[in-house]
Amino acid sequence: MKKSLWQKYNDMKKLNSINENMSTDVLIIGAGITGVSVAYNLINHKENVILIDRNKCCDGVTSKSTGKLTYLQDLMYQKIVNTCGMDAAKLYYDAQKEAIRIVKKNVKNENIDCDLKQSESIVFTKDLKELPKFEVERRILDELDVNYSNLHNKFLLNDVKDVIKVKNTYVFNPIKYVISLLKKVINSSNILVYENSIATKIKKENDFFIVMVNGFEIKTKKVVIACNYPFFTIPGLIPFKTYVEKSYICASKTDETQNLNAISSNYPCESFRHYDDGKDKYFIYLNNSSKICDKLNYEKNYKQCAKKIKEITNNKPLYKWENMDVLTNDNLPLIGRISSYEKNVFIATGYNTWGMTNGVIAGKIISDLILNKKNKYVDLFNPSRSINFSKFKNFITNTMISNVKAYTFNLIRKNPSWYKNKAIVTKINGKRVGVYFDSKGEKHVVSNICPHLKCFLTFNEVDKTWDCPCHGSRFDVDGNCVKGPSVYDIKIDETNISN
Ligand SMILES: Cc1cc2nc3c(=O)[nH]c(=O)nc-3n(C[C@H](O)[C@H](O)[C@H](O)COP(=O)(O)OP(=O)(O)OC[C@H]3O[C@@H](n4cnc5c(N)ncnc54)[C@H](O)[C@@H]3O)c2cc1C
Repeated sequence: MKKSLWQKYNDMKKLNSINENMSTDVLIIGAGITGVSVAYNLINHKENVILIDRNKCCDGVTSKSTGKLTYLQDLMYQKIVNTCGMDAAKLYYDAQKEAIRIVKKNVKNENIDCDLKQSESIVFTKDLKELPKFEVERRILDELDVNYSNLHNKFLLNDVKDVIKVKNTYVFNPIKYVISLLKKVINSSNILVYENSIATKIKKENDFFIVMVNGFEIKTKKVVIACNYPFFTIPGLIPFKTYVEKSYICASKTDETQNLNAISSNYPCESFRHYDDGKDKYFIYLNNSSKICDKLNYEKNYKQCAKKIKEITNNKPLYKWENMDVLTNDNLPLIGRISSYEKNVFIATGYNTWGMTNGVIAGKIISDLILNKKNKYVDLFNPSRSINFSKFKNFITNTMISNVKAYTFNLIRKNPSWYKNKAIVTKINGKRVGVYFDSKGEKHVVSNICPHLKCFLTFNEVDKTWDCPCHGSRFDVDGNCVKGPSVYDIKIDETNISN
């Protein structure tokens, strides 16, 4: 898969993987910004902690974000007011500000070099129909006492119709930040960190949980699910509360950087920022965001993103990548105890593409719950909060329609023309399979059904992966699962295939 700009800063040495049965007080599954933040907050406490990741640590969604650390998150406040009310929007705003304070404090206390820079955040629209929404957002920001302005910057993007801008927000290099915290975690006396260690099953036994990792048993009192999208459906029923969105991102070198970052409110969104690592300067540009069941012409999406960044910077992109995140039907993340009857299983997901702040606040909420401390955001983000009409309406439009579309579209459209015959979906011995023909003409045959929730897979001809358009799992052409939520491969026994 294509590497992001940030991944080149991941200088972690190879870590051990789980290769024996173990026991601990807390097991954290997933070493992205969420899992590492939880672990960091547990340093030097009496709890013994194990942190695991199925791949290399800090190589998931966090390593492919745009690294904006802001409370101005497109038109988020009116979305929350519409589904959960003004009090929820106020508390959400407090949480975002607190997350920014926590990052600043950690950077200062730990002397972290992550290129944290103050940067104006801008939300803009190019669509006249969006203007009334900007008025609504301004009224809500007034109520929240946010100091904003409507002044247009000298924009790199044309046709902007309206702007909301705030000053006291930041951008950073997310990987340098998370890796620095992870190194502190690794050096602590109460936490062990393992990579290439995949959790596949959790079962309860009396007061303990047994988590299967690489086929070994980890016995633990508490489990933190920090894997972006959980690998199980029950408890939590996350697939019914969420849907997944994907975007394409390019970064090219530029001569000067500006202290601003921006996102459009219109759909599909555009977003950009600058980055200066002290040696090189980059412009980072994102577009073509969509639900993962839409825009399945991967090559076209990459090309459009690359064309746009070339228009803006006059330079070819040096980095091109795609990323996906989990969105919730009520626009609030799901952070805390996974259900009211499962007190010792914690989850953090559904950041609605704003996980730099929400991952950090999740780290605080979950570590507070583990340490029996009070936290004022527990009810706001409670993963088992009740369902109201607006959430239900969004469930129908986002979750149900996306999944039904993904299933039926791929049922009918087995071999879209854009595959250029490099990959086909067919049946062998009654089984639905995907066949990829490599440059030597050799066939790579895999199952075409995602082991997670049985969706049909589409071929991503750019990354040469089979991708699930329902929940985002990805598999290489030989059937190895390279991204969850699936924890199983799609390899098939070739001796059973005759053609
Ligand atoms: C295009 C895009 C741009 C974004 N830009 C921004 C931005 O500018 N600002 C912002 O605030 N947010 C942004 N976000 C959102 C943000 O990147 C994510 O919300 C956040 O990084 C999620 O962090 P995480 O720790 O939950 O997940 P991850 O970083 O994915 O970490 C989860 C880890 O769990 C591991 N894992 C998964 N399953 C298992 C398993 N079974 N066993 C063991 N380990 C497992 C994975 O390998 C992974 O390393 C963006 C998102 C997208 C899609």
